[in-house]
Amino acid sequence: MSCSSEFLPRDYIGSVHNKKIKLIRTLNRKKTRQESGLFIAEGTSIVTMGISCDWIPQFILMSARTKKISRIRTELIRWARTHRVVCLQLSESVFEKIATRENPQDLLAVFVQRWCRPPQIITQSWIVLENVRDPGNLGTIIRTVDATGIGGIILVGSCCDPYTREAVRASMGSIFHVPLVRMERTAFLQWCRRWPGDVIGTHLSAREDFRQRYNAPVLLLMGSEGSGLSPNMVGACAQLVRIPMVEHIDSLNLAIAAALMIYELRREVLFF
Ligand code: SAM
Repeated sequence: MSCSSEFLPRDYIGSVHNKKIKLIRTLNRKKTRQESGLFIAEGTSIVTMGISCDWIPQFILMSARTKKISRIRTELIRWARTHRVVCLQLSESVFEKIATRENPQDLLAVFVQRWCRPPQIITQSWIVLENVRDPGNLGTIIRTVDATGIGGIILVGSCCDPYTREAVRASMGSIFHVPLVRMERTAFLQWCRRWPGDVIGTHLSAREDFRQRYNAPVLLLMGSEGSGLSPNMVGACAQLVRIPMVEHIDSLNLAIAAALMIYELRREVLFF
């Protein structure tokens, strides 16, 4: 058995039949994530970021592959002991079974998901994503929202899960900073009537250029990768704008378009 001096033998898992290992494997399914309200964050820096934002993991798992334990990891183990968070070491072969195949990390933690209510007192701009499908896009948008300091994200309709491993990884830890709200389209359309600033939609057939002076706070609506904004969502917008492209291109990637739009509406704060 390979076991670092930071761990006691009882902290070691060498079998895939362990209860926690079985749970981790089921958390790859959306249904289990929804039912349990849990999710997996991978990598020392993402897990540490979660802890520094006051998210307490349910438990932490590390691979025994890492022979030399870094200072940050030793601190994490000590933190876990002080906060009574179970911290376990896994045999390399067991860890491989639960790690992501591409670019695997050798540490992961399980956290409880957080969902917010729609904001009641509105002071900041927010972005609304309708039926976003790609977790990589969603994670990237979460990271951009965090970087630009807008209020948060409202997920409308049947969006992909921001708590998939892929979205969490693409967010680079911003998942722990950015408020997330989910709403049915009808409820959202009713709620957004009370929005105090500009409600702006992004649309490929819009005539207006996206470089404008918007009235903050802005509610920015972006559509899905496949079909864009639905007609009802378009109807809720006071204005539709378009990001210019050369002729032979149909559209930009959603996360890129979102970044351009958010930077435009935060221009005065971020660039001056
Ligand atoms: N086939 C879809 C359509 O017809 O709308 C393309 C959707 S596009 C990949 C996904 C979303 O990104 C759009 O709904 C819009 O919000 C935004 N988007 C992409 N390119 C854009 C552009 N040039 N101008 C404005 N919004 C854009």
